Amino acid sequence: MFTSLSDRLTGTFKNLRGKGRLSESDVNKTVRDIRMALIDADVALPVVKEFTRAIRERATGAEVSQALNPAQQVIKIVNEELTEILGGHTRELTLAKRPPTVIMLAGLQGSGKTTFAGKLGARLKDEGHTPLLVAADLQRPNAVTQLEVVGERAGVRVFAPERGNIGGHDVGGSAEGTRSHGDPVAVARAGLAEAQARQHDVLIVDTAGRLAVDAELMQQAADIRSAISPDEVLFVIDAMIGQAAIETAQAFQEGVDFTGVVLSKLDGDARGGAALSVAGTTGRPIMFASTGEGVRDIEVFHPDRMAGRILDMGDVLTLIEQAERAFERGQAEEMQRKLLAEEDFTFDDFLSQMAAVKKMGLKSMLKMMPGMGQMSGALDMLDEREFDRVEAMVRSMTPFERSHPKQINGSRRARIAKGSGVQVSEVNQLLERFEQAQKAIKQFTRGGGMPGMPGMPG
Ligand code: GDP
Repeated sequence: MFTSLSDRLTGTFKNLRGKGRLSESDVNKTVRDIRMALIDADVALPVVKEFTRAIRERATGAEVSQALNPAQQVIKIVNEELTEILGGHTRELTLAKRPPTVIMLAGLQGSGKTTFAGKLGARLKDEGHTPLLVAADLQRPNAVTQLEVVGERAGVRVFAPERGNIGGHDVGGSAEGTRSHGDPVAVARAGLAEAQARQHDVLIVDTAGRLAVDAELMQQAADIRSAISPDEVLFVIDAMIGQAAIETAQAFQEGVDFTGVVLSKLDGDARGGAALSVAGTTGRPIMFASTGEGVRDIEVFHPDRMAGRILDMGDVLTLIEQAERAFERGQAEEMQRKLLAEEDFTFDDFLSQMAAVKKMGLKSMLKMMPGMGQMSGALDMLDEREFDRVEAMVRSMTPFERSHPKQINGSRRARIAKGSGVQVSEVNQLLERFEQAQKAIKQFTRGGGMPGMPGMPG
C-alpha cells in the first residue's frame, strides 16, 4: 500500500542528505517534489495545497534552527503534517453507556462492508463483547448469504431477514423478524430488538450499496439511520477507487453523515492518495484499515503510525500489537511457565508459535518493519508455503518424537520425510535448526533471566 508515494517521498529526502543547511532553492525543490508525489498518488488538490503550504512555511521558518540536520528536519515536518491530514489522533469506537452499541456500515457496493462487518465482529468478540451482525443489505441477491458465511467464519451470530436468526438458537416466533422480509429498515429495527432481547452488547448493521451514489440508496441509508440511531456510522471506502473517493465521501457525508471512515483493501496496490484525502476533506477520522480478505485482516488506524509507514519509518508498534493478539493469552502463559520451569521447548510449542505467526501473515508482518517497504519486491518472492512444509514435517512426528527430538534417528527421519512428502535432507535441516533454537532459549532462561522480574531463575 502507498508504495509509490512512499518511494517518491523517501527519494525526495535522499536528495537532502548531506546538506549542511537548506537554501531557499532546496526548499522550493523539495516542496515541488512532494507536491508532485502527492498529486501522482491521487491526493485531492485542496489537500495537496494545504499540505505543501504548511511544509514550506515550517521548512523556511523558525524550526530550521534546531539540532536536526536538514533532511531529518524535513522528514519530521512531513511526518507531522501527514499525520495531521490523516486525522491527527487515533479515534477508538464509541461504546454506548447503555448497550447495545449500534454500529451502522455504509458505502458503495463492493467497497468491503460485508467483509468488514465480519472482521469487526471477530475483533469485538476477541475483546470480550457479544456482537450481533444484522443483514440489512437486501439489494444484492447474495448479500445475506455472504454475511452468514462471514459471520460463521468470525464465530459471530447473524440476524437475517428470512430466518430471523442464523448460527444461534431459534428466535422462537419473532413476529418482527418474519414481517421484516424485504424491508431493510424493518430488518435493522428487528435486529436491534433482537440484540436487546438477547443481550448482545454490540450491533453491527450491514447496509446495501449501489455501484454509484444515487438518491434512493442515500434515502434508504438515512432511513435506517433514523430508525436505529446508531452510535457510530462507519463509511467504508475502497482505497483503490482513486479520485472518485472525495466525491463519494462527500455524498455519503451529506446523505447519512458518518462518524468515521474505514479504509478497505489497503493491502492492494492502491496509490491510496484519494483515500488519504477523505479525512482531510470530510473532517471525519479514519478509524480502521481493512487489509485483506481474511477475518483477522483489520487494524485500528493510527494516523501517526500510518504516516511513519508511508515514510518508511516502520510501524513497530502495530507489529507488536498484532503479535500480542496472535498469541492467545493462555498460550503465552504456557510458554512462560515452561521457560520458568526450564522445561524443554518441544516441537509442539514450535507448532503453536508457527500457527501464531501464520495467523499474522508473514509478509504483512515483515512489511511493517523499518526499511522493509523498499524491499517489497524481495518480499513477494518469500514463499509462505515454506511454513506449510515445516508444519507437515512436525505433524508427521509422533508425540514422543516431538518432545524428544534428539531421539529422532535415521529411520525415524526417513519415515517423517515420507509422511510429509519432503526430502530427508529437509528433515535433517529442520532438526538442526530446532536444536539451535532450543539452545538459544536455554541460554536466555539460564542467563540470569529478565531484569526486574522476581522469581526468574538466576
Ligand atoms: P460490500 O458490497 O461492500 O459488502 O463488499 P464486500 O464485503 O462483498 O467486498 C467486495 C469484495 O472485496 C469481496 O470480494 C471481498 O473479498 C473483497 N475485499 C473486501 N475487503 C477487502 C480487503 O481489505 N482486501 C482485499 N484484498 N479484498 C477485500
